[in-house]
Amino acid sequence: MEKRELVVIGAGPAGLTAAIYGRRAGLDVLILEKGLAGGQINITDEIENWPGVPHSTGADLGRAFKEHAATFAPEFRDVAVEGLEVREGRKIVVTEKGPIEAGAVIIASGASFRRLGCPGEAELIGRGVSYCAVCDAAFFQDVEVAVVGGGNTAVEEALYLTRFASKVYIVHRRDAFRADRIPVDRALASEKIVPVYDSVVERVNGTEMVESLTLKNVRTGEISDLPVEGVFVFVGTEPNVSFLAEGQLRRSRGGWIVTDEKMETSEEGVFAAGDVREKPLRQVVTAAADGAVAAMSAYSAVSEEQYLDGLLLKPDEVVALFFSSIDEEQMRLSSATEAWAAERGRAVVVVDGYRFRRMSEKLGVESLPAALLLHRGEVIARRHVTVPGDLGLLYDRSLER
Ligand SMILES: Cc1cc2nc3c(=O)[nH]c(=O)nc-3n(C[C@H](O)[C@H](O)[C@H](O)COP(=O)(O)OP(=O)(O)OC[C@H]3O[C@@H](n4cnc5c(N)ncnc54)[C@H](O)[C@@H]3O)c2cc1C
Repeated sequence: MEKRELVVIGAGPAGLTAAIYGRRAGLDVLILEKGLAGGQINITDEIENWPGVPHSTGADLGRAFKEHAATFAPEFRDVAVEGLEVREGRKIVVTEKGPIEAGAVIIASGASFRRLGCPGEAELIGRGVSYCAVCDAAFFQDVEVAVVGGGNTAVEEALYLTRFASKVYIVHRRDAFRADRIPVDRALASEKIVPVYDSVVERVNGTEMVESLTLKNVRTGEISDLPVEGVFVFVGTEPNVSFLAEGQLRRSRGGWIVTDEKMETSEEGVFAAGDVREKPLRQVVTAAADGAVAAMSAYSAVSEEQYLDGLLLKPDEVVALFFSSIDEEQMRLSSATEAWAAERGRAVVVVDGYRFRRMSEKLGVESLPAALLLHRGEVIARRHVTVPGDLGLLYDRSLER
């Protein structure tokens, strides 16, 4: 099977930044993309909040990201990822062109906005139709706009839009918003916000730019025209995680991947970066930052694993103590063991078995703490340890051989 040090899923801002940092750290990087490198920004006309570039089209920025990443020569592969299998610590990325084993995986597959699906919407994206108020609100200074949706995002984004637009209609299919009480109260108290209940958008109208919305009242069937210059659609966003199995990796409501601040998921050696993860702000700048952090964490994981392989699996004979770094008593045991071995002129490799689960699993360590005698990667003897002296038997056994 093909083996790579770092496999990145998705070539959006997060994945491309991860590739830059991964390559600069000296990792062998393979980046898998099923569509157009650059990701979601390819479909936006205006970007003016990527620092250092006051104005760019999304397509230009996406292309620049790809060209920048390419200067560090990661391998790009045009392929869809269909699965991720983690077996006994081995990480296998399943693609439509075959499986790839990875030392570390970064999931940077982004998110997709749910669309209304009505005529005119797709044609006018970036020309009045938007899915992101933080990205596009500034282009709607002193004009009337509509927000579609009734959840927290819709109501909060409508409030944000009141700083720019002269009037913000919130078109919602029900007779009350689903959002939390506080944002709803704030929205209803705003002079700029006008709720339009019981209504759905039948069509987005305009030739060059959005000019109006055709609305249908779901109770009466009445059709009306709402003149607006912009429409912000917030009827849901979902992470692109269809290649993960149900329940695979810890996820929040909505399926977003939960990570720690090092971007590590609930699976050792599997990282997530960018819009696909649970986070408060989904933007190019936060995706790029995540990608950088994930790549450096992946570098640590890969190099630590290679280091452990060298310390534990390659030598002729080695005694190792596996302990848990989340257990105070075991932490004390690990320090005491190092001191005990040093006093006797004996070598011991002390491994955080909680953190390096893959190595623990590989060596059949079922509970911590545990001491092992290894001969070229093969476990010759093992024992439970309560005090450093318990390792003595392993050294005796080593001498007998
Ligand atoms: C219309 C619009 C306007 C926006 N405007 C702005 C703006 O002005 N400023 C701003 O900062 N942000 C803006 N954003 C948000 C910004 O684009 C995202 O936050 C950013 O692109 C997230 O980057 P990412 O790398 O996490 O994911 P994405 O950009 O979504 O990239 C993910 C990549 O993964 C690929 N992928 C997914 N699944 C698979 C698979 N199974 N196999 C292989 N590849 C896969 C996708 O094809 C995609 O290329 C906008 C978004 C949209 C939609």
